[in-house]
Parts: sequence; C-alpha cells; structure tokens
Amino acid sequence: MKRLISFVRSIKLHWWILLGMIAGVLWGTYLHEVYYDELLAEAYLEVLGTVDPAEADRVAESQEIRDTVQKLFEATPGGAAADGIAELFLALLQMVVIPLVVASLICGVTRMKDFGRLRRLGGLTAVWYVTTSFFAIALGLLLVNLFQPGAAVGDTLQLDIGEVDVPDPVGVWEMLLSLVPPNVVEAAAEFELLPLIFFSLLFGVFTLRVDEKYRVTIYGFFEAIFEVMMKMTLFVIALAPVGIAALIARLLATTGPDVLWGVAGYAAIVAAALALHFFVTLPLLFWLLTRRNPYRLMHAMAATLVTAFSTASSAGTLAMTLEQTEHRVGVDNKVGGFVLPLGATLNMDGTALYECIAVLFIAQLYMAAHPEFALTFGTQLTVVVLALMVSIGAAGIPHAGLVMMVIIFEAVGLPLELIALLWAVDRPLDMMRTMVNVWSDTVGATVIAHHDGAIDESVLFDRPDEATADGTA
Ligand code: ASP
Repeated sequence: MKRLISFVRSIKLHWWILLGMIAGVLWGTYLHEVYYDELLAEAYLEVLGTVDPAEADRVAESQEIRDTVQKLFEATPGGAAADGIAELFLALLQMVVIPLVVASLICGVTRMKDFGRLRRLGGLTAVWYVTTSFFAIALGLLLVNLFQPGAAVGDTLQLDIGEVDVPDPVGVWEMLLSLVPPNVVEAAAEFELLPLIFFSLLFGVFTLRVDEKYRVTIYGFFEAIFEVMMKMTLFVIALAPVGIAALIARLLATTGPDVLWGVAGYAAIVAAALALHFFVTLPLLFWLLTRRNPYRLMHAMAATLVTAFSTASSAGTLAMTLEQTEHRVGVDNKVGGFVLPLGATLNMDGTALYECIAVLFIAQLYMAAHPEFALTFGTQLTVVVLALMVSIGAAGIPHAGLVMMVIIFEAVGLPLELIALLWAVDRPLDMMRTMVNVWSDTVGATVIAHHDGAIDESVLFDRPDEATADGTA
C-alpha cells in the first residue's frame, strides 16, 4: 500500500494532466453517445415546439438550441458532475487571479526602485508584444490567401443561419475609457483585468514617488500578499488533472466530434498557422535572442500550456504561468510579475492570427455568394490592423476573440450573423489560440528576463538534462 502511494506521488503533474485529458475525452464521448440525440430532440421540442427534421435542420446550428442542449446536459448524472467540477475548477482559478495580479504588478513596479528601469522593461515588453503579434498575423494572412478555405465551401454552406446575439461594436474612445476604472472595487468584482492592471501600474508608479518609509511598507504588504497567493495557486494547480478532465468531458458531451466537419478546412488552417507560430516562429525568435533551447522551455512549461489549452483562458491560467516561470524556469519575479499579467490581457498572438484567418475566411465565403463584395488590398490591410487592436483589447477569457470580431466585421462590411458559422468550431480553436497566447507571454518574459540578467539559469537552462527531463510539480 505504502509503495502504491509513493508510486502515485512520484508521477509528475503533467502526466496526471495528460491522464486527465484522456479521461475527459472518454467521459465526454460516453456522455455524447448516450444522451446527445435524446437531449437534442428535447431541446428542439423546448425551443421550437416541434421535432420536425426539416425545421430542425434549419436551426441546427442556432445558439439557442446549443444553449438548451447544454442546459439539459447539466441535468444528466455524468453531465452534472462534469459541469460541477469544471465550474469549480474555473472558479478556483479565477479566485486567485485578482489578488495575484494586483499584488504582482504593484510589487513588480515598486521593486524597480527607479523609472529608468521601468521604462526600459515597459519598452521591451511592448516591442515583444507588437512584433510577435505581427508575425502571427502575417502568417495567418499568408495561409488564408494561399488556401482560400472560404472559397471552397462558399457554395455548399448555408448562409442564412439566423441571427446571433452580438454586442454593439466599441469605438476607440470607449476602448480607451474602458482602461480607466471609475470604481476599482467594481472593476475587481466584475473581473475586468485591463482597468485593474491600469490602476495597479499607476499605484506602483506613484509608490515610487513617496517617502522611502511608505514605499517599504507598501512593498512589504503587497509582497506578503503575493507570496500567500502563490501558495494558494499551487494548491489550485494540484487539482488541475481532475478539473481538466471535467472541462474536456463537458465540451465533448455537447459538441461531439462531428461539429468540426462543416468548417473543417478553415479550422485546419487556423490550427496549422497556430502550430507554426507555436513550434517554429516563437521558438526561433527565442533561440535567436537567447541562444537557449526553446523546446526545453516548452517542456518545463508543459503543465501551464496544457492548462491554457483546457481552460481557453489566459487570465485563468495566469496564476500558473506566474508560478511556473518563476519556479521552473528561474525568471525573476521582478520581470515575470510585470510582463506576464500584462501579457495575459494584452499580448495575444494566437487571437490576432485567428481574427485574421476567421474574418478573411468569412469574406471569401461571402464573396462566393455575393460577387459584388470585393476583398481588396485595403480591406486586407484593415483586417491586419484591426486584428492587432482586437487581440490587445480582448479579455483573456474563453471566446473573447470571437466576440470582439464584431469590430472587424463592421469595419469591412460583412454581415454580423455570419459570425454564427464560427461559433461551431470556436471552442477547440479558442483552446489552441489561448495556448499560443500563453506561450508567447512565457517566451517574452523569459527573453526579457534573459536580456535583463533577471533569470536564474541554474533552475532550467544550466541544469543537466536528466534533472529537468522529468520534473513538473
Ligand atoms: N480565450 C483567449 C484567451 O484567453 C482569448 C480569445 O478568445 O481569443 O487568451
């Protein structure tokens, strides 16, 4: 018995997470096989008052039906457990974020002691964000024009798919205004990270301007909070394998694997572009700038990347990103605590790339049915610029990128209801793009720490292979 316990304990976290993912796939497929047809019929009946297949086909992709099926699933025994555990895990992840972000940003800034350093680090961070996002967008642009996934399916896909609930687009001033929280407590309560980041950065900057005795007190206070939050985060991370199993089960139960076929070509191109950015562009940049092995970094951060994938939320993963870059890579918290929270909301390479491909896919598809709509160079340029802005503005939560896409649709004159087509495959693509988003944050933080001499190389890069090859927790 003792040997069994010690064996179980010796299995590293990332293997547990992999096991959790496999269990989630089996669990979700089982739920889908057993309940889906029955629940779908029930949902039609509830929403339309009929199960007539012709009528049903017309709304098969409608959000309302999907929501109803989801709700009905939550009432099945296995579905209720998956939903309950998934929600619990997400709540735990979110619970630690606000105090962690505020404490880490305030510590990050006040620890700098001088403005020169702050300015330099801020500058490097901004350069990294913008450069990598543009690389991502360029790649997306190239692939979507090369393969034309929209043109191929334009004739076959039904275009009159029904209205979707989309929020009004936001203008530049509203976007700027949304940065400033009129009420900090409310911003925290509403989980609005961007205004909170703005406040925390300002608080940090002005802490540098007060008397030494106050600065020391404030720094000590927030550093203590930060340490406690890190410990709490470790506890939440230990629950990740079960949480991830439930998240995947819940997803597969309602969508099933078939949902992917309708827009498979588009999804494949987004996935290929994300994979290229993930495995080639970012690692290459990392190697060029640090001469360190990027795949070693990827391996060390595996649990964080898998969590990003399963939660589809950079903000939800942030606690883990902060903890693991510090303890598994050796990035000094002075850098990680500043670069990572900013990155989780502002730096979204995967989202930028995705916006670009998704909008152009819909444009190609729309053009097949409406030849008067021209996809000019100017339109493509607008898409590029807006994709970058939207990726900066999108919150690090699931589907944020898709919701923000309204801005680009409006700008290039595409009908908003076509966004419904993208919903069908958004979740798996969201999972992938979030993983790319978090990977770019991690690589950025490590590059900047390396450049700044703020990395303890003995933690990962200067360690013999055997010592790092198996450790996660
Ligand atoms: N889910 C993404 C993230 O949290 C944002 C998006 O929807 O693109 O990074």
